[in-house]
Amino acid sequence: MGQAIRTTKLLIDLGERTQGAANTRKRAYLEETAKILDAARAFYVAFFLAHPEKLTERVTYVSDRDQQERERLISPNELLTWAEFQTVETKEHAHPRPDWNFSERFPDMPFTYRRSVIKDALGKARSYLSNLANWRASGKKSGQPGPPGASNHPTLYEGAFALELDETDLRQTFARLKVYTGATWEWHHYPVKLSRYFEARRTDPAWEQHSPKLILHGNAAALHFSQAKAVQAKKVKQSKADPHLVTVAVDLNVKNLAVITVRQDGTIIKTLFVRDHGLDQHRYQHMKRISKKQWLSGKAVKGEHSNRQLWQHVRHMNAAAAEKTSRTIAEVCEQYPGCVLLFERLRKIKRGEASQSRRLNRKQANQVRGQINARSREKAFAAGTVTVEVNPHGTSQYCSRCGAKGERFSYRGAVRIKARWGKLFWCPHCQYEANADFNASVNVHHSFYQEGHWHRRERPPPKKKRSG
Ligand SMILES: [Zn+2]
Repeated sequence: MGQAIRTTKLLIDLGERTQGAANTRKRAYLEETAKILDAARAFYVAFFLAHPEKLTERVTYVSDRDQQERERLISPNELLTWAEFQTVETKEHAHPRPDWNFSERFPDMPFTYRRSVIKDALGKARSYLSNLANWRASGKKSGQPGPPGASNHPTLYEGAFALELDETDLRQTFARLKVYTGATWEWHHYPVKLSRYFEARRTDPAWEQHSPKLILHGNAAALHFSQAKAVQAKKVKQSKADPHLVTVAVDLNVKNLAVITVRQDGTIIKTLFVRDHGLDQHRYQHMKRISKKQWLSGKAVKGEHSNRQLWQHVRHMNAAAAEKTSRTIAEVCEQYPGCVLLFERLRKIKRGEASQSRRLNRKQANQVRGQINARSREKAFAAGTVTVEVNPHGTSQYCSRCGAKGERFSYRGAVRIKARWGKLFWCPHCQYEANADFNASVNVHHSFYQEGHWHRRERPPPKKKRSG
């Protein structure tokens, strides 16, 4: 049993289609809201850090099972109640501590927002204190953990947020948000860009709904709905016992973003190449411009894209490629229920001496590989497929047919050039010749089943470390 998490994004429409004036004002409210919530969070982070002993307080309770008195750590809900009692004015408790009077500093803040920042602050303070304790215990001189920041994307709990859907006209959909105008808290309507697809996904009964988060950056605002699903997945050990287990192996590369091979009963039953459609080359051109501009530095040239815009463009391209590739991988897995998805533990693709733009581009390619890995894993898991990372050692060097060490080469014209980056693989032992990425993908299965080069040998006991 496990849990899959996914996020569905809903863009708030701040475009010019609706009246410009209202939009700028409403946009400013969103920023004000995020700002005041950051300040409120900072208040509670400081409050908890001023009372570290409270966070580790032990409370006694009577166990239901055997009526014995026991001790346990104070719970987050108890701390929340305690913090509110110390800092918030109520009818029953008219005088909170004068140095920590939240009601005075943040008048009329809706209690759902207050509780959400208290919970955030508690998490931040606790993790900071435990990191600090670990660092002190380690005796290291450097690397002292810094105090926690206070900014976070605000969570919109019930009472601060509602979606108003018009079933007949999806364009008439609004998110009703309680926002801070700079002076007061008010409800405002925000038009959202809704698609039928979004609604089907959001109301999918298989997924449990969590409160959305408000995400503001640059010129965009969005609501991120997070959803969770309980997943029944077999343990890998159990799966491995199945003699007809299907394994789906993925070799992640640069020009071939992914080479997917499916194996059952020792044979490859399906192969799929996901090519990059020129992404690497396209990105390389941008990296050349970026590194040239960095070198020249100074002001942006009028009428030309700034480096920031270029980076954003590159990020979008990478994310789109990763999304598409991971979807393909997940779709292949779905065709074989009960299969196991195999990746190599990610290693960096190195390329010795290279220009700055080439190095930048290589780094981007590595990031795309990481994204494909993470996204495929999530998508596959939501459908009940477990991912295993296998030992990557030698997957591109050994023959997937006979297990001997082979070599990589490429053709330049009609000339065969032996090179580590060669597109083709050749085995001198059994004369097998294949696409190098395909050969690596097949070897990922061998690594999982510990065949050939990956056969687990009896190892001599490790040498004792020399002291001093
Ligand atoms: Zn061979």
